[in-house]
Amino acid sequence: MNWPKSFRAGWMKIEVRNYEKAEGAEWDKFGHFAPQTQRIFFDDGHSVDRQANTIIHEVLHALWTTGIPSHWDNAIRNLSENDAQEFLVSALGDALTMALRDNPDFWRTLIDALADTTPKKVK
Ligand SMILES: [Zn+2]
Repeated sequence: MNWPKSFRAGWMKIEVRNYEKAEGAEWDKFGHFAPQTQRIFFDDGHSVDRQANTIIHEVLHALWTTGIPSHWDNAIRNLSENDAQEFLVSALGDALTMALRDNPDFWRTLIDALADTTPKKVK
């Protein structure tokens, strides 16, 4: 699968790459976001659907890192369940709006991959 190579999350330009090409990447189950190096890693040994899901998951971590002040993390823990849900949905909604606007080709590639039901050979 020819995944996008980069993603813009606010002030960060993030490199998207598989684990195989990543030197010294820390192994995680399916993927990993490294804010220090601004890289998203994913395991291309999984299905296309899983890879797309992993990339989206790591993109959300990146958006959280760039869009949500760290002291808000603590504030969420003190919210009621309903308030926490509203906070999280609002924060991710704002982040996704920005991310969709700033990365149209990135999302098109993922949407095409998820829409394609043809079985893919995984390495
Ligand atoms: Zn995660």
